[in-house]
Amino acid sequence: MISALDLFRIGLGPSSSHTVGPMRIAARFLQTLEDGGQFESIARVLVELQGSLALTGEGHGTPDACLMGLIGFQPETADPAEAHEAAAAVRASHRIALLGRREIAFDPATDLLLDFDHIPDLHPNGMVLTAFDAEGGEIARHEYFSTGGGFFSSRHQLEQPAPDDQVVHGPPVAWPFGSGAQLLEVCAESGLDIAGVMLANEAARRPEEETLAGLDMIADAMNQCIDSGLEREGLLPGALKVRRRARSIHQNLLSRPQDNQAETLMDWLNLYAMAVNEENASGGRVVTAPTNGAAGIVPSLLRQYCSEGRKAMPAKARRYLLTAAGIGLLYKQRASISGAEMGCQGEVGVACSMAAAGLAAVWGGTPEQVCAAAEIGMEHNLGLTCDPVGGLVQIPCIERNAIASVKAVNAAKLALHAGETPRVSLDQVIETMRQTGLDMSSKYKETSQGGLAINVVAC
Ligand code: SF4
Repeated sequence: MISALDLFRIGLGPSSSHTVGPMRIAARFLQTLEDGGQFESIARVLVELQGSLALTGEGHGTPDACLMGLIGFQPETADPAEAHEAAAAVRASHRIALLGRREIAFDPATDLLLDFDHIPDLHPNGMVLTAFDAEGGEIARHEYFSTGGGFFSSRHQLEQPAPDDQVVHGPPVAWPFGSGAQLLEVCAESGLDIAGVMLANEAARRPEEETLAGLDMIADAMNQCIDSGLEREGLLPGALKVRRRARSIHQNLLSRPQDNQAETLMDWLNLYAMAVNEENASGGRVVTAPTNGAAGIVPSLLRQYCSEGRKAMPAKARRYLLTAAGIGLLYKQRASISGAEMGCQGEVGVACSMAAAGLAAVWGGTPEQVCAAAEIGMEHNLGLTCDPVGGLVQIPCIERNAIASVKAVNAAKLALHAGETPRVSLDQVIETMRQTGLDMSSKYKETSQGGLAINVVAC
């Protein structure tokens, strides 16, 4: 079972798979060598980015994320400005302080390579790190895969999982479930709702008060991200020269209130989602939910329905986040939340499904209605492609989060109004997403080789 606190991970934009994952991988590689007593022998590090990490890496900030990880920054704690400055200093000086203390030469032109021709067999987001000693001898060469949402695996772990491998097996939990049907069964058996089941399962990892504090911190980080996005203006990074819009929309909403409540609701949902995704696109601090590209949807509904002003209401926010996480981990376990594997249905589609479920729970829905909301949230995102223009997480990503936020509310409404057992189950729609993702051409899976990416000029 994946922890809710792993699914919602505080990190830096613009991409969980292409920024957060590579940063964690680079730091883990060096930490592994340090644990093995080889760190002091390192004279050169070579980073090779493969598949989607190469094809859209520049636009997604992957090379700089690798530098940050080698320096020892962790996505959860890094100050965005400080981390970006440190990466720029490496590019200027051609020197890098590994884990912040062992300085060696590092020329990004020769030591950080984008291997466009190599699509790894196990996962399209491949990353190979090699360390050499002063004589040029190879100390270690490890192959990793950034699997979406900031999670990663190594080839060794996937092919030969150790019996006590926590990532593969996880600690035993009170109410294990591996499908939507099993989730409903454990709810019926335990008498708990989905949030209650998730909270009971989190107890296998840490005391309950720590889990609740972690959830509150995530809710705060989501609201802070919205606030930052509402304050900033100007152009987003990259050749597209996309202008931030959240601040001006916010000012318009405040100065010209509308009479029509339904339209006003859409405006606010759009605004909150866009504020987060503009922060994400600028490399700011966001919460993966379940990815960075789709990071605006869960916070948008959190702000609108589980917050008072800028502050989350703990009981509502915890129920919302735990329920959304319970649905999100089903997608992670049964399919994938990686745009490089599933297209955007695996990112924005999953986020819409999670948010719809969380809102249905906050509105008092039964576990069956919550799963129906999750199903509807995905059903109408099936087939959604990933074709970011210029490889940047901006077009279509920012507006797509706004549209999906409104859709998530609608999905929750439809589920709560439905009077009968839905014809399509949550498990069926997750499996359909998985199969659709496998059938989808790689042109539409975070490679920027098709769709909007080739029909819109990027400069
Ligand atoms: S199109 Fe969707 S999956 Fe692709 S980068 Fe944008 S948000 Fe992520």
